[in-house]
Amino acid sequence: MKFRDIPGHEEEKTRLRELVDTGRIPHALLLEGPAGAGKFALARAYVQYLHCENRQDGDSCGVCPACRQHESFNHADTIFSFPVIKRGSGKSTVSEDYLEEFRRFITESPFMDFDKWLEALDSPAGQPQMYVEEGSELQRRLNFRTRSSEYKAVLMWLPERLHPSTANKMLKLIEEPYPDTVFVLTSDKSTEILPTIYSRTQRIFVRRYTDTEVETYLCQRGVDGPAAAEIARLAEGSLTAAEKRCGAEDNSARMLDLFADLMRKGFKRDLPALRKWANDMSARGREQQVRFVDYCSRLLRENLMLHTSAGRYVTTLSPEEAQFSTRFHPFVNERNVIALFDAMNDARRDILANGNSKMVFFDLAIKILMQIRK
Ligand SMILES: [Zn+2]
Repeated sequence: MKFRDIPGHEEEKTRLRELVDTGRIPHALLLEGPAGAGKFALARAYVQYLHCENRQDGDSCGVCPACRQHESFNHADTIFSFPVIKRGSGKSTVSEDYLEEFRRFITESPFMDFDKWLEALDSPAGQPQMYVEEGSELQRRLNFRTRSSEYKAVLMWLPERLHPSTANKMLKLIEEPYPDTVFVLTSDKSTEILPTIYSRTQRIFVRRYTDTEVETYLCQRGVDGPAAAEIARLAEGSLTAAEKRCGAEDNSARMLDLFADLMRKGFKRDLPALRKWANDMSARGREQQVRFVDYCSRLLRENLMLHTSAGRYVTTLSPEEAQFSTRFHPFVNERNVIALFDAMNDARRDILANGNSKMVFFDLAIKILMQIRK
């Protein structure tokens, strides 16, 4: 990640560059500011700049061995530390065990969409943290000599999610520094960092993006002008929120197709087709499955309102959903609505409880078949 790969933030980039250029490299640096403002991307660019063997025009060169290792997330002297979810009980859990998932995540979401990280951890409702073993693991790894660079760097994402005993270990590492080690922390909620850690860091505040910056970013990614302006206004300075809104628009079209497909096949009582539908659904990630069930509940609710108000209710439906619902709403009525909502709630609960998703969705499909002609 080079500085020029990150939109805007000229002031922040200048400050980071100057730390390296003047040799006043803080032992522990904290980039704090709202989520979606590009703090982790800046931290990566800073560490790459620090390691680059051929800095040019205030940026890393992108082609030296150190830069190439950074670009492929394989820099020998850079350690990533980030919150994870315990796998099974009693097992030790450290960032290193999730490195592959994390590399994929930062490639796909360089502005660090936390929901996407939950999805990658396969834990839509989880509370990831840095567990107690993370502190000892960091200490162990910092005891090795650096391999190719002057500095070893620890890039820590979300220090507010350090388990209290890990935080104390971290504090020791920061208080009694190894001379060749730099910590770069990036936090969305710096008020939740252990105050003793917070007070020992040198801090740079990374401001939220302006609506114009978000709009420019979206336009460069092919979103057309008026839509980009509207999304930028709603994203409140967060690039991840803006990306999510762009994705949500295509996503809801796909969700509508899946919903319509389920209802049609249920109405036709086409069991083989319903079984295939359930198998296709089970191949999706758990978070997407939960979102789909929530989407179904919303569409059913809106259709019930249309039905009971004889079409007078003003819906929150998109034009495509509204078009589908003009034909669909007579099928959601007082005879089946409770059973339909129950079916969705059961499916949601079973998905979150790690139920066999082929069975969960086939069960849901059968309930639709039984109810939709009532
Ligand atoms: Zn370089």
